[in-house]
Amino acid sequence: MVAPHSVSKSAVSRLDTEGSAVARRGEATTTGVVGARNDAAPSNISISLTQMLDRREQRVADQQALLSRFGRPLVQLTLVTPGPVKDTAQTRFVFDQGLAAVHQALRLAGHVVLAQQGGYRVTGPEMLMVIDAEPLCIKENMLQIEERNALGRLWDVDVLEPSGASVSRQQLGWPARRCLLCDEPAHACARSGQHALADLQRAIEDKVHAFRNRLGR
Ligand SMILES: [Zn+2]
Repeated sequence: MVAPHSVSKSAVSRLDTEGSAVARRGEATTTGVVGARNDAAPSNISISLTQMLDRREQRVADQQALLSRFGRPLVQLTLVTPGPVKDTAQTRFVFDQGLAAVHQALRLAGHVVLAQQGGYRVTGPEMLMVIDAEPLCIKENMLQIEERNALGRLWDVDVLEPSGASVSRQQLGWPARRCLLCDEPAHACARSGQHALADLQRAIEDKVHAFRNRLGR
């Protein structure tokens, strides 16, 4: 039922109050609330810029479909993964940790997840969640996990208002995200190509290894 690298584009699982996934009639379900489990091995292949841009465009369409269907804010989890290889054992591990952290933060805040859609893709793992709560409140919680978790810098948690507008860090008085390697804003370094890809990837691997060592895995 689960296609390689992702659940089907139309897969939306509706979540009951216990947090378990319940398939809607006629739709494939995602395979669990925590983790985007998928039997297919990570593809480990380089993807093209065109594939990335196509996926970005499709993701916007997915967002709009959920916004018009539910009329509630969305949380979108994707990863900070410089370089052309987006679907690896490491990216899946980092994503699963992120998804668990997002769900935990939402649960602690009493924010109900009405539905979620996403999974592992060759273009990188991603999850869209429909949340029954106030967008600024959700964003504040998501910023906290991005900043406080040891892997948080590797997660990209966007919050969309029902209008589709993205809630910015600045709206809540948070500074722009810092670069993985230096103290400059991340977007400035990304735009100027300030750092070698290998250095960025090493910084990410160091974070993941340190996290795994603490977990004893
Ligand atoms: Zn930098």
